[in-house]
Formats: sequence, C-alpha cells, structure tokens
Amino acid sequence: MGPGFELPSYWTGHAKCARIPSWSHCSDGFLGRRRPLGRQIAGVAWAPRAQDAYALLMGLSRPQDKHSPTVSLTACETLGREVVAEALVSVLAPLGGMGRFVSPGMQVLLKPNLLTAAAPDQAVTTHPTLVEAVTKSVQEAGGTVLIGDSPAGPLKNAPRAWHKSGLREIAARTGSTMVPFEEVSWHSVNGTDYFIARPVLEADLVINLPKLKTHALTLYTGAIKNLFGAIPGTRKRELHFQAPGVQDFSSILVDVLELVQPGLTIMDGLLGQEGNGPGSGGTPHWYGCLAASTDPVALDTVMTEAMGYRPGEVLHVAQAGLRGLGVADREAISTQGDGQVLEFGELQLPRPHWYFCAPAWAAAPLRRLTKLRPSLAGDACIGCGTCAEACPVDAITPGLPPTFDLDRCIGCLCCAEVCPEGAISPHRNLLAQLIGMGY
Ligand code: SF4
Ligand code: SF4
Repeated sequence: MGPGFELPSYWTGHAKCARIPSWSHCSDGFLGRRRPLGRQIAGVAWAPRAQDAYALLMGLSRPQDKHSPTVSLTACETLGREVVAEALVSVLAPLGGMGRFVSPGMQVLLKPNLLTAAAPDQAVTTHPTLVEAVTKSVQEAGGTVLIGDSPAGPLKNAPRAWHKSGLREIAARTGSTMVPFEEVSWHSVNGTDYFIARPVLEADLVINLPKLKTHALTLYTGAIKNLFGAIPGTRKRELHFQAPGVQDFSSILVDVLELVQPGLTIMDGLLGQEGNGPGSGGTPHWYGCLAASTDPVALDTVMTEAMGYRPGEVLHVAQAGLRGLGVADREAISTQGDGQVLEFGELQLPRPHWYFCAPAWAAAPLRRLTKLRPSLAGDACIGCGTCAEACPVDAITPGLPPTFDLDRCIGCLCCAEVCPEGAISPHRNLLAQLIGMGY
C-alpha cells in the first residue's frame, strides 16, 4: 500500500471488527442486505463486492473537499399543507432559512421530479404539497417562481405530466409560472455535447426538488439524478443511447450536475419509493422526512447510506465526489436536525451492476450477458405507446400490447420509467441473479 493511499473508512472499520469472518452479522449493518445467491452457494460470505473494490481503488475515503457540508433533516408526519410548510421551515433553519438564498427580485427556478404522468400517491413525482410550500417560501422572500422540468419522452407528453402530478394546479394557485424546457443552450463537458434547458441556466437560483426513490439502473434517484431533467425531451434518449452502461450513464449524470449546479436542494423524502423505481412500477414507501443541503452530492451520500447502499455503490454519487462537485465522504458531512428520520428500516433495493469495475475489454460482454431487459405484464398494459416514444433505440413497436426487439434493446429501462401503468419491470436473467443483480 503506497504512501498517501488510504483504505476507505468502512473497510478499515471492518478490519477492526471482531466478527470479521461473518460480516453479514456486523453490528454496523455494513453487509446487512441479502448476499448474492452465487456467493451464498460458494460460501464466501465475506467476499468484498465489486463496488467495494471500486471504492477502494478510487480512494473514496479521501475527502474530496476540505469543507464540511451540512445536510439538514426533519421529520414530516403527514402530507398536510401546513405540516409540510412547517417541516420546510424546520429543514431550512440550519442552512439559514430561505432568506439566505433568495433576495427580492430574484428569478428562482424550482426543478421538481416530473418524470412522467403520475398521480401524487404513486410517489413518482415530487409531491405537489412540497412544491407549493417551497413556492410560497420563495415568494415570501421576494423571489419570482418558475417551475420547470422535462418529463421523459417527447415534449408533447409534458402537459399530461404537469396535470396529473398536481403541479399545474399548484402553479395556478400560487401565481407561479410553469416553464417548458424547449429552448436549449449547447455545452460540452468531457467531450460530450449537452443541450441544457435555458431557463435552468438563466435563473438567478435553481432549487432542486428531487424525490427519494430507488432506480433499477442507477440504484437510486435523488439530487444528482434529478438534474438529468434539465435536458429536454428526446435529447435524453440520445444520451441514453450514447451511454447504455451504468458507468457511462453515471458519468453523464455528473456532467449535467457540473453544468447545472443548483444553489439549494430540498429532497422530498415524504412518500418515496422502494423496489422497482423510479416510475409507476416502484413501490410507494413512506419515508416521512425532508432533507436539504447546498451540496447535492453530500445530500445523496447521506440518503443512499440511510437506504442501505454502501460507499461507492451508487456510482454517480461516488463519481461526483471524485470530480470535486461535492462531498461523497460520509464522515466529512455533518447532519443537523432530526437524525432519527434516517432510520428507514429494511428496504427493497435494486442490486448493483458489478461489472462496472471490470476492464473495458471484459465490461462490454459482461454487460451484454447480464443486461436488464424490460418484462411486460401484458394485462396491465393499456396500449398507450408511451414506452415506444421513450425508447432511445426504437426497440418497441407500439400496440396492445407493444412488442420488444430485445436484440436491439440496450437495457436503459426508460420504457419502465415512463409506463403510466407500471406494466414494465426489469427482468434479470439467471446469470445476473447468480452474480448478485436482482432483488
Ligand atoms: S407498456 Fe405501458 S407505456 Fe407501453 S403501451 Fe403499455 S401501458 Fe403504455
Ligand atoms: S426497450 Fe426499454 S429498456 Fe430496451 S432500450 Fe428501449 S426503452 Fe430501453
């Protein structure tokens, strides 16, 4: 081990653990989740997983930044308007309140998660009660509120998403403005071209309003992933096509974070999702909290740990820390407020894609062999065609039910994200299940 190279903190912690031969019983809960069937069969309960190796190799324990960001947490018992508004005041207090971020005359863009047309009780989109509370809080501080997002799929689908999510009604009730993400501005990051919605770049302040959910491909969708919506409509499809693997797609998410950089993130940890998120196929789960930070990477780091993911396991969060866009070292992050809200209990989490740290020559064939594929529950399908519109490689022929060209499919699961009926779920083949992908 060369000078200057540190073991990740969780690794060294376990090196001291008296129960090292049986990490799955570790009182720290480090290996609390179900072990992959393959390793249970092989009897290698202690074997570090590829994500651990990634974290080790990339030195994730090293602080990415000298500053110690704050993640503020507060419980919220119900979805009642007054209760959520009080919780918002409470969660922003340790950060200096809304007045620290908003001055009179500022144009403030709220970026909720408006993934697809889904009702609030499906827990797919940022809850309208939180969007309303934030809108009013910004207005009280003297700001003008714009609410903007670009749902997955073609732009023509957006009006339905605004309506069904309840955000259209909130905009009307509060006198705020819904902004379509149609006009774009071109940017290049790390050799990839991005078209970012102009309202995002032109606002005086972007307040990121992600939702706490699982994600079948990226494992988790939170503060960083929510910013992918800053890329309008079908341009998201092009990026999925360019980056079919979770490594490359995670890198794209981090590029978008680099371009957008919200000034404040307030996470809807009220009614979120576990299981097959982030679309209608996910299982609503009451988390009962709000979380806020000026550092979206730190916020995601805290929330992914609370959900049961290990350091480095959610690739885009780790990559964002490594690029210095925020702090992904849990020990360098201070939490304020009600830390008990992070006691989520056992959740149904997607399994990671372990091939990501294989050498390039091996990663591509491994990815093909273990690729997630869409699986259709035909009786739930209404033949709306949304999945075909969202597919970046035109692998779906619309119909009732639609048909899938699985040879063409790249396993991005955009179809599952947008299906309003939750009729599409990720299918893992036997090999993928054996090596630890799956539920
Ligand atoms: S699978 Fe879902 S998105 Fe596709 S046509 Fe059926 S209901 Fe619509
Ligand atoms: S069929 Fe579904 S998973 Fe496959 S490429 Fe198209 S949208 Fe992605």
